[in-house]
Amino acid sequence: MKSSEPRVTVGCHVSTSGGVELSPGRGHEIGCDTMQVFTRNQRSWRTRPLTDEEIAAFREARAGSRLRTVMSHDSYLINLASPDEEKRGKSMAAFEDELVRCHQLGIELLNFHPGSHLKSGVEQGIATLCESLDQICAHHPDKRDVTLVLETVAGQGTNIGRTFEEIAAILDGVREPERFAVCVDTCHCFAAGYDLVSDDGWESTWDAFDRLLGLDRLAAFHVNDSKGAFDSRKDRHARLGRGEMGVAPFLHLVTDERTRSVPMFLETPTDPAGYAAEIVWLRQMAATGEIPPLPDVEESRSRL
Ligand SMILES: [Zn+2]
Ligand SMILES: [Zn+2]
Repeated sequence: MKSSEPRVTVGCHVSTSGGVELSPGRGHEIGCDTMQVFTRNQRSWRTRPLTDEEIAAFREARAGSRLRTVMSHDSYLINLASPDEEKRGKSMAAFEDELVRCHQLGIELLNFHPGSHLKSGVEQGIATLCESLDQICAHHPDKRDVTLVLETVAGQGTNIGRTFEEIAAILDGVREPERFAVCVDTCHCFAAGYDLVSDDGWESTWDAFDRLLGLDRLAAFHVNDSKGAFDSRKDRHARLGRGEMGVAPFLHLVTDERTRSVPMFLETPTDPAGYAAEIVWLRQMAATGEIPPLPDVEESRSRL
């Protein structure tokens, strides 16, 4: 039986409470083509290894689902750019554990925040980050099946990775750039000062991305509206069309040839029913090229 391919590949962040192996079923129920998960406790440095049973159950559940792309999001505790050697060592160990888990589960994308230079300066922060990434890659030559995905950030505090130039400097600084890709978070990008709203701004943003990074590096989108104003450097996600960005960027996203085929992951502050409605809304817009009425989505607390 032939089914028609959806024009966009879209899903959301999915809970792993009760066990990571429960997430593919939840993602499938929501109607996801893509799913993002945490593979370990976000608030703790310590974690127990996955069992063979959990690994087999996750792989089986995914194979039986409609999911096409799965991405893991690393722990917020991790800072690979830290000037403090002890914190950097802890971060590297935790990140290596994240990489091992993705490899075991067959998760192909590991999304991470570049980190914070903590007043050591952007240049030093990038150098430290690249050193950490080189060591991690050298320790795991057998885990090239997992692409390491640098997420663009809003630029709060001393966070690295606000601009495409900074992401390019990281990719120029690592020894194995072929193991890396980029995730653009629409909320972060807008809050970082990239105009995704006007037609001209949208064009110049992707011209810059292509010039500095190359569109083939673009592995994922985090699709979020922003509670923070344009160029506010604030990382505060809003439901689609309900924030400062409005609907225009999302219409661009699902209709522009350069972006519409890239896997998309919602991280909006809502529940599974809300995600399902936002996914349908994006698919409708992709199919018609017109903006349907805003999805009726409940606001709820987001951990993202
Ligand atoms: Zn994000
Ligand atoms: Zn965010």
